[in-house]
Amino acid sequence: MPTRLRALSRGFTSRSVDGFVGAVGNTPLIRLQKWSEKTGCNIVAKAEFQNPGGSVKDRAALGVIRNAEKLGLLKPGGTVVEGTAGNTGIGLAHVCRARGYKCVIFMPNSQSQEKIDLLRMLGAEVYPVPAVAYENPANYNHQARDFAKDLPNAIWTDQFDNVSNANAHYESTGPEIWDQTEGRVDAFVCATGTGGTLAGVGKALKERSHGKTQIYLADPPGSVLHSYISSGGKLTERSGSSITEGIGQGRITNNLGTFVNDLDGSFHIADEKSIAMLYDLLDTEGLYLGASSALNVVAAVELAQKLGPGKTVATILCDGAYRYQSRLFSKKWLQTKGLESAIPDHLKKYAVL
Ligand code: PMP
Repeated sequence: MPTRLRALSRGFTSRSVDGFVGAVGNTPLIRLQKWSEKTGCNIVAKAEFQNPGGSVKDRAALGVIRNAEKLGLLKPGGTVVEGTAGNTGIGLAHVCRARGYKCVIFMPNSQSQEKIDLLRMLGAEVYPVPAVAYENPANYNHQARDFAKDLPNAIWTDQFDNVSNANAHYESTGPEIWDQTEGRVDAFVCATGTGGTLAGVGKALKERSHGKTQIYLADPPGSVLHSYISSGGKLTERSGSSITEGIGQGRITNNLGTFVNDLDGSFHIADEKSIAMLYDLLDTEGLYLGASSALNVVAAVELAQKLGPGKTVATILCDGAYRYQSRLFSKKWLQTKGLESAIPDHLKKYAVL
């Protein structure tokens, strides 16, 4: 940086940051007023939609890339390859542009054109591939792994089993929640895709509180983790489905790992409750959120009711509604999913698409 500019940037306030990467994290913790009052607790939620790439996955994307750089696996001009249908790919594409890497994304061809377009606008090379199950070698994750294997100076970031994903939350999201609540966080709950957020935040909070902060998992229909936890460790086949994108899991990923045994419990949240909360949070707080954020808040409210008044319960607002609005705010789409009746009558006015 030229001397004159360096001198200028030294004069910036402590709130200024350097580039895209510097803007990841340090999100506000929002106290949800209506649900705090209703439960007599503090329901607080981390505004991860304020990350510069728009979601909680910016932290994981930066974490896996930083780790690969540290280990010398990724050198200047290298290529980052991932199998992802959404936020991780968007986060990776941003970080790759900011750090000068090529980005290659394999995704199921069932995904919306908007997501493909956005990734391409961010400079990523996108390969839509047949939407087949994880067990099938043609699955998008396996194709990403194989593509990276044959390419020099390329890494497959492997978001599900690469624990630098959970470590990013252990080092940033968890400590931020601890500091923002001044250590008075009685419980934390969130849903899992890779499990990185839950395990990373959970470990950080358990360590700082000497085990006192309770950590719960929230699961949508079609995921097996709630039944795994409540049955004491029996893994069942996946059945059912959910409109909540980005969450739900059929196995214990490396990111969740043995932390699954340290959880204090779990909640199963039906889509009807998530949709009603999505519209409620828009109406009462002015928050325009994706469905996984709404599911997390439903779980936080149920956890607050379980623990009783006076507690502080934290959760995550993973991303905004912008990536899903043609579904979540479309009366017709919700009708096709049998969910239109889940919206309370006085909130139906928001379903304008
Ligand atoms: N919500 C959304 C919208 C997501 O995209 C993801 C990541 N797939 C999650 C929640 C879950 O985060 P994690 O992968 O850390 O479990």
